Amino acid sequence: MGMSATRTFFSQERVDQAVQALVRLGSTFYFKNWSLATSSNYSVVIGRDPLYLLMTASGKDKGRLTPADFVVVNESGAIECGATDEVDLSTAKPSAEVLIHTVLAKNPAVGAILHTHSVWSTIVSGRNADKGHLEIEGYEMLKAFNGVTTHDHSMQVKIFPNTQNIRSLADKIAMLPDIQPGFLIEKHGLYATGANIDEAQRHIEAFEFLFEIEARTGV
Ligand SMILES: [Zn+2]
Repeated sequence: MGMSATRTFFSQERVDQAVQALVRLGSTFYFKNWSLATSSNYSVVIGRDPLYLLMTASGKDKGRLTPADFVVVNESGAIECGATDEVDLSTAKPSAEVLIHTVLAKNPAVGAILHTHSVWSTIVSGRNADKGHLEIEGYEMLKAFNGVTTHDHSMQVKIFPNTQNIRSLADKIAMLPDIQPGFLIEKHGLYATGANIDEAQRHIEAFEFLFEIEARTGV
């Protein structure tokens, strides 16, 4: 695997910064009930050519992440090395959904990918699954998304059927070039992207706010 060779493609400083930001974010999302029971996952692009993502490893408690809970994966979704030397590579596993992250990260506009398993995204994705999308219209909060300058805007959030065959889901996502800034998986959760962690977090927060309104008002 050549850990030292891999490490020449990205800076440890970049890794450390991303780890710090995702540890804070994980705590925030955990306490908002968006990342409970070790569910959900987060990643950041740390190298573009070749592609490397810093990502939460499988099965980690998002409320108390540490640097030892992060791995570096390549464009195939395989672990290249740990975020630090503390990571036990004999037991670390990439997230089951790593292929969704690597497919989304192939878009050069995407620098961070955040996935949540919230109550409201689970409800609205289930209720609207037959239509294949959730339509959100007329809310001031829509301006949290790039290019939206007025509440007088309609957004269609795509809903994919849930599956345990992540490769087939990743293939479907790869065929949709306009899947940003996010999409739902039926009775499962939300994926949002951004140019960086802050933008992806803003998108998650705006989506979750809007999903709660849609769910509470009966959609
Ligand atoms: Zn998930």
